[in-house]
Amino acid sequence: MDATDHLKASLEAAVALANATGAESNQGRAREALDQATVEAVLRLTTNQPLSIDEVAVGEFATGGEQIYRALVLLAEEETDAAASALNALLASTRAAPMLRRHPESAWHLHFASEGVSVATGWLAEFGTAAAMLLGSDELDRLRSCAAGRCDNIFLDATRNHRQRFCSTACQNRTKVAAFRSRGTQT
Ligand SMILES: [Zn+2]
Ligand SMILES: [Zn+2]
Repeated sequence: MDATDHLKASLEAAVALANATGAESNQGRAREALDQATVEAVLRLTTNQPLSIDEVAVGEFATGGEQIYRALVLLAEEETDAAASALNALLASTRAAPMLRRHPESAWHLHFASEGVSVATGWLAEFGTAAAMLLGSDELDRLRSCAAGRCDNIFLDATRNHRQRFCSTACQNRTKVAAFRSRGTQT
């Protein structure tokens, strides 16, 4: 994993947390309250270090995740100035600061958690940094909103031709079925 891959993984995690906390509907279902298992699944996208996520941390992730969601939606809508303000606010409130770290059996890599902040704040600092690095990068036009009904997820287009319209195959299939049904009723 190189330095860029590390931040890409954090960006994937940031998007997952944003959807879990900010999107009103995920893939056709109303969003559920954030819980410990979801936070851990999000963090597993970017770390294999041991995790300690308690109820307080879940609350912090919920608040920070909503902020990230709003910023990413603004970015996807090309409201770049407003997105930059929102991300700057998050970077300031989480006291994001680059610091090289090394865990047992890992190479040196950048962390963004300031000394003394909570576990959740440290992660939110990293997610905010990963989202902020989208600005001015080629990755930015890969960020978009899911085109399916009843899904407010944002996603990073992983296809070569930049044609992905849905956050997931679940949303793609649901949309196909809906289109097929509406054709059926017209005849
Ligand atoms: Zn690390
Ligand atoms: Zn979707």
